[in-house]
Amino acid sequence: MDPFDTPAFNLARKQVELIAELLDISPSMREPLLWPKRCIAVSLPVEMDDGSMKVFEGYRVHHHLAMGATKGGVRFTPDFTMGEAAGLAIWMSWKCALAGLPYGGAQGGVCVDPRHLSVGELERLSRRYMHEMIPFVGPKADIMGPDMGTDERVMAWLMDTYSAYLGHAEPGIVTGKPVSVGGITGRREAAGLGVVYLIERAADMMRLPLRGARAIVQGFGTVGSVAAQDLAHRCGMKIVGLSDSTGAYYNKNGIDVWHAYGHALERGDLRDFDGAERIDADDLLIAPCEVLVPAATSCVIHEQNARKLQCRILAEAANGPTTTEADKILFERWNEVFVIPDILCNAGGVVVSYFEWVQGLQSFFWNRTEVVDRLYRTLEQAFVAVTRRAKRQHIPHRLSALAIAVERVIQARKTFGLFP
Ligand code: NAD
Repeated sequence: MDPFDTPAFNLARKQVELIAELLDISPSMREPLLWPKRCIAVSLPVEMDDGSMKVFEGYRVHHHLAMGATKGGVRFTPDFTMGEAAGLAIWMSWKCALAGLPYGGAQGGVCVDPRHLSVGELERLSRRYMHEMIPFVGPKADIMGPDMGTDERVMAWLMDTYSAYLGHAEPGIVTGKPVSVGGITGRREAAGLGVVYLIERAADMMRLPLRGARAIVQGFGTVGSVAAQDLAHRCGMKIVGLSDSTGAYYNKNGIDVWHAYGHALERGDLRDFDGAERIDADDLLIAPCEVLVPAATSCVIHEQNARKLQCRILAEAANGPTTTEADKILFERWNEVFVIPDILCNAGGVVVSYFEWVQGLQSFFWNRTEVVDRLYRTLEQAFVAVTRRAKRQHIPHRLSALAIAVERVIQARKTFGLFP
């Protein structure tokens, strides 16, 4: 069995192949881009609260080393695999290169449903994961950050385990940690705020007023809940649809996002949410709206639903939400649907992670205005570069974003030669 054969890795590879054709990249340059540089699989024995011992599978993948250290999330999800890690690491490479950050892509995680663990079990699992990863990570080698199923708490346990091994605090080993242990203000909201900034830019370009317009957000976690709140409260949009892994909710008059957030905070998810009608999860994505934000998992926009999307802006907050087949359809519909591709749309998370990493290395703290201002400026540069190139070459925004990123990585590889 091919350990990489997963939807995420296959999609990431297909995209590299498309770009390699577009940029006419030689086979010798193309091949290293298609494969991870390093992969590690670990078994993680953890003592459970009832005294039994359970072994979890953990992974970490580094895509390339040509731009400096690797950087990537840690995902705790029930179906996490090495292949998914590899796909996400490749996307992270492009995201960092597009935003001009000095990193190659990485990704790791554990195959686990964290909702089924007690706090103590989650802490022991997180610490065990870092313990096994110590030979492969480091503040100048590979830096971890939050992703699906992990949060500030998990980042704090990862940092503490690494720091205990070194004998001193090492804030640079993780980003997305609490401010009280060296985190940066604004990191938790960064990806969601970035998504909304780019939606505003796309709407400006299309002369589409956002105030009073409708938005649907799939996924109500760190990224989706912040994006939904910012769209509703700052942009004045009506959030007509929300979903999480427990169900989808629709209210044509608008959902009270604070109420939904309070419900999710109190109960852990949106189950039994009473502020909207429960609908089929597939129908939510094709319901009428001006802005659709997939903020959950990969491959949710596919050949079967791409033609049916009714949004004007598709803001890809999740990694890899759109298949290459759906991309072709969306490009046919380019004057109806403005796609903000994932490696641009959700880059706010890693951009502020980079600020946090710099802050950790320098022990010099930034305030929220500095963080948000620099975040927006970084995204603005990337947005302008992507939309200009797409227009000039008449290519989809995704290809434009990938082309810019891949060219930068290739340039670095050519400078160094064979090894990174
Ligand atoms: P999270 O774990 O905080 O939240 C994920 C949400 O998606 C949860 O509400 C979950 O219930 C929901 N979900 C899962 N499967 C679903 C499905 N099939 N349908 C509907 N909802 C579903 O994760 P997150 O950190 O918000 O990440 C969400 C996405 O954004 C992921 O693709 C992640 O890789 C990407 N991302 C996250 C960050 C970050 O900083 N956290 C940065 C960039 C990109």
